[in-house]
Amino acid sequence: MQLHDITLMLTLSLASLVGAIILGILSQLSRAVEGSKYWAIGLALLSVAYGSHLFLQGMPLSIRANSHNLCLVLGHACWLIGAYKFVGRPLTTQQKTWLIFPVVVLILTFTMIWPAIEYRIAIIGIWLIVVRLHYAWILFRYAHNNRIEKLAANIAAVVALAEVCFTIIYTIYGSLGHLSFVGTQMSWVSGITWLGALLGITISTPLLMLLSVGRLVEKLDFAAHHDPLTKLLNRRGFFAQAKPILSISKRNKQLVTVMMLDIDHFKRINDQYGHAIGDDVLEIFSGTLRSTLRETDIVARWGGEEACILLHDANADYAITVANRIRESFSFACKATSAFDNAITLSVGIASKQLSDVDTFDFIQADADKALYSAKSQGRNCVYVSAI
Ligand code: GH3
Ligand code: MG
Ligand code: MG
Repeated sequence: MQLHDITLMLTLSLASLVGAIILGILSQLSRAVEGSKYWAIGLALLSVAYGSHLFLQGMPLSIRANSHNLCLVLGHACWLIGAYKFVGRPLTTQQKTWLIFPVVVLILTFTMIWPAIEYRIAIIGIWLIVVRLHYAWILFRYAHNNRIEKLAANIAAVVALAEVCFTIIYTIYGSLGHLSFVGTQMSWVSGITWLGALLGITISTPLLMLLSVGRLVEKLDFAAHHDPLTKLLNRRGFFAQAKPILSISKRNKQLVTVMMLDIDHFKRINDQYGHAIGDDVLEIFSGTLRSTLRETDIVARWGGEEACILLHDANADYAITVANRIRESFSFACKATSAFDNAITLSVGIASKQLSDVDTFDFIQADADKALYSAKSQGRNCVYVSAI
């Protein structure tokens, strides 16, 4: 092997290996980063693909080339499978089989019955072009969860498209027999091909890491600010969103309206139908809140079967209308499941006030809480407004 071959193969192999290790650690740290496990496996396979020429040095070219080709194909298949998983559209086993099995069979068949390397280059080249285009399309089309993810995914898609250009050159010239092999004098076609591989690995790997870390941070952030069952905000998430709204309301001397909602006799529902049905009722509750409120309203799961809503720039009359709409929609949605013998209802307490500079949110929330208790003591399934 010539020095340039060793340097190139070692660089490609080590770069892929480092990427594989980091992505592997990331995927082990959290299962929340869908797809990164496949990207790690893909990079590990690419590391073996490029390393084949180094650690199989004494072997015949056909064995080295086949080890390289098979690992290259499997590695890229893993990247595509990972991309599909990352965007929340995991491939079925049957689809994965169709992606990998035919190309592997073709490579092995041609190795055995028609060993000329040009045919294998044509098969692998065409397969790689299709898979890379597909991979670029999946990232470009579906990886849109946040701005960083969109940017990283778009750059990864552009890099994949650039690799497609290199692969087209490789496929055309390689099928015509103009590709030089590792260990011989490098032709310009081979040089361009390896340059493509080097660019692909060195740019794509950090991008895949960025995508994975970005996804991890997003999931952690969501978990820190939301309730896992209902996906409503928790108290921390509520205060994070309420803080700027409260400041604006104080500055503009607008009314702040707080609603406390509590499902009636929820303990009985749990006792009578079981906790799982109780959980279903909580999901119906959160679904009703989501579909009834405006984008600007902030709603959180405050406790077990309690919710707190902050209505921005709304008076008590508007809040009463909204509360009654929630009450009716919730009972109607529970009735529609036909799982319950009795009506499922909820009670609402409302407090509405123009906050002074020294007033805190707790102040008005405590009043809404008192109003809720009044609603409970007045027979439940009703709305009570605090008299402040
Ligand atoms: P009231 O009409 O006065 O509000 O009566 P209640 O039975 O609804 O109120 P209580 O506070 O006595 O009961 C609340 C129950 O909610 C008790 C608790 O076991 C249940 N709970 C709290 N969190 C969950 C949850 O995540 N899932 C389920 N299924 N039940 C929960
Ligand atoms: Mg209750
Ligand atoms: Mg309660």
